Amino acid sequence: MKLRKVTAASAVVLALAVTATACGSDDKKDDSGSSGGKTIKIGIKYDQPGLGLKEPSGSFSGFDVDVATYVAKQLGYKPDQIQWVETKSADRENALSRGDVKLIAATYSITDERKQKVDFAGPYLLAHQDLLLKKDSDISKATDLNGKKLCSVTGSTSAQNIHDTIAPKANLKEYSGYSECIAALQSGAVDAVTTDDSILAGFAAQDKYKGQFKLAGLKLSNENYGIGVKKGDTATLNKVNSALEKMVSDGSWQKAVDKNFGPAKYKNENAPKIGQLVK
Ligand code: GLU
Repeated sequence: MKLRKVTAASAVVLALAVTATACGSDDKKDDSGSSGGKTIKIGIKYDQPGLGLKEPSGSFSGFDVDVATYVAKQLGYKPDQIQWVETKSADRENALSRGDVKLIAATYSITDERKQKVDFAGPYLLAHQDLLLKKDSDISKATDLNGKKLCSVTGSTSAQNIHDTIAPKANLKEYSGYSECIAALQSGAVDAVTTDDSILAGFAAQDKYKGQFKLAGLKLSNENYGIGVKKGDTATLNKVNSALEKMVSDGSWQKAVDKNFGPAKYKNENAPKIGQLVK
């Protein structure tokens, strides 16, 4: 009897030791538990200076990156527990539906069409569609675009708005990212680039483009940026909305605005109210 007890106790000790070893070696891979090894995958843009940019050093910068980092912290993830994933404009709904990412903070406008497929927390920024032009361009209004070569991105509201209302007769080229459009504007392959003023201001302020481009300043649409979550994930949605509210009320939102939009002199709108869209 005595012997059996000792054996049982040893077995427990052994089992604990094995578990501890397993935990130790598996720590970093663990995606689900509440240990320090958990991670969150967040979709951002990689090529939009001031919003979502992968720096040559491999680090990430921009307003969306700062908003997502703040939200992730409220959800219980430290910055080094975030795994950034590039989500291009046309890939965003699918990336959320497939579960490739938990959140998307990628200049992602809340629209009725997208709401059929994903849910949105926010809005956390109001931007407006505009045009980026060469400094000496004589384009100054939307009707000047008819017959002109224009560039935007597949799957964006910017491209959709051009087709639907802003300039259906423009010759619209669609690339997969705005950095390709900017290169086409610089080379003269297109006459204008169209998307949100927040994005265009970031490109125009880059050292390599300084003095070459101008924004038309047209406010062609209202773009309410939301954080995309998987359709039906109400628990995450509510947590993200609370985090965004806190980010505004504790001053972190304004700090992120100053840090990321200041250098481009982008004059953003005031912080939106959660759940209130400007149509
Ligand atoms: N905010 C617009 C959109 O969600 C344009 C910017 C983008 O393509 O990310 O489509």
